[in-house]
Amino acid sequence: MPRFAAPAATGFHLMTIRTRFAPSPTGYLHVGGARTALFCWLYARKHGGTFILRIEDTDLERSTAESVDAILQGMTWLGLEYDEGPFYQTHRFDRYKAVIQQLIDQGHAYHCYCSKEELDALRQEQMDNKEKPRYDGRCRHRSEPRAGVAPVVRFRNPDEGEVVIDDIVRGRVVIKNSELDDLIIARSDGSPTYNLTVVVDDMDMAVDIVIRGDDHLNNTPRQINILNALGAALPRYAHVPMILGSDGARLSKRHGAVSVMQYRDDGYLPEALLNYLVRLGWSHGDQEIFSIDEMIALFDVDHINHSASTFNPEKLLWLNHHYLMHGDPVHVAHHLRYHLGQLGIDPSTGPDPVGVVQAQRERCKTLVEMAKASVFFYQDFDGYDEKAAKKNLTADSAPALALLRDQLAALAVWEKTALHECVNAVAEQLAIKLGGVAQPLRVAVSGGSVSPPIDATLALLGREKTLQRLQQALDYMAS
Ligand code: GLU
Repeated sequence: MPRFAAPAATGFHLMTIRTRFAPSPTGYLHVGGARTALFCWLYARKHGGTFILRIEDTDLERSTAESVDAILQGMTWLGLEYDEGPFYQTHRFDRYKAVIQQLIDQGHAYHCYCSKEELDALRQEQMDNKEKPRYDGRCRHRSEPRAGVAPVVRFRNPDEGEVVIDDIVRGRVVIKNSELDDLIIARSDGSPTYNLTVVVDDMDMAVDIVIRGDDHLNNTPRQINILNALGAALPRYAHVPMILGSDGARLSKRHGAVSVMQYRDDGYLPEALLNYLVRLGWSHGDQEIFSIDEMIALFDVDHINHSASTFNPEKLLWLNHHYLMHGDPVHVAHHLRYHLGQLGIDPSTGPDPVGVVQAQRERCKTLVEMAKASVFFYQDFDGYDEKAAKKNLTADSAPALALLRDQLAALAVWEKTALHECVNAVAEQLAIKLGGVAQPLRVAVSGGSVSPPIDATLALLGREKTLQRLQQALDYMAS
């Protein structure tokens, strides 16, 4: 059974900060959702509080099990572990029904028997009079049910006064109750609507700060009125501005990847994406690089930007390179293993990926690049890069490769310094430049003209594969 905190009435929740991420499972976890989740998670972690994951799956037509899995997978990959949940709203219908009944019993809600035709006519009339279309509350006082009509339930919004939201990001937002109409909280089949379920859950889960996208700001006054009717404590609200693409339009697929897992597949490290997301809409002076611990220590809802932020893929790439360069190689190697696996490589057939990370990270901006550039350590190649072979595997370089083969075979220890000296010695013996030896050697062992420094490359490749590939190159040159 889901664990819920003690209800607000006990006052117990005042002891800890409780945040929630409440995605609707109608697609993958996108960067906007991930940023909201990150802000909620950071705020809870910073205050030693509780981070709740709630799956808002009441829209049965649009919610899918695959989306739930995709969201959970995204959260796991990002390392945004939740303390409670995941809770599913579809498991809580009995509770919502009970609250709806309570609202009816207390006079805060009523059955509405208006037909679609009646509502359409009302709307038309209001539009003809240049009024804003809204339900006029005509069923508030209807005492008789209409035969054959399954009613909806509407919340009886207060007529007078105003709702004040002291939004942490947006500042003070005031909405007159006269602008709000009586919201449907249960459909004619009895199922609860979105605003009702959010309110009941935020109340039952004792959420004390709601951090969410500002596309929900319109719902907030309605939710506050329902919370007030239920006598619940009001959470604080922080509505986070949206993320735009470089053209100023709301971020969408046409701006490139928007799914968190797509970033994994494209070779990003989760900490790079988290660092990118935390800065997207929040700042701490000019600081750009934040370790997870620093984010937790420094994050603060008061410094969330008031205006929309623009997604900048180049900056994310720059951060990724930073984390590849400076991250713990053991950790980076863990992620490299995944990408080697994606290329059909079993890392146990070659060098330890930790060493590969150390050798490759300077020249790779993504793990996909790194994995592709490292295939030759694990798999033999069929042919050489044409241009590189034409330039380097020539009759001129044959003596150097033959000498290398012999001297490398005789090398006492297979390690970087000795390998370096061996390559130098061959160049000296043949009185040619180091590049005249190293580059043909590189093409011979890697198949192309780009690899880490030659000594590191050979050290990783190992003696057996190196000698075998040198022989293969000599055979190729002789043919
Ligand atoms: N389920 C809503 C969404 O995915 C979020 C609701 C909320 O955070 O209050 O947009």
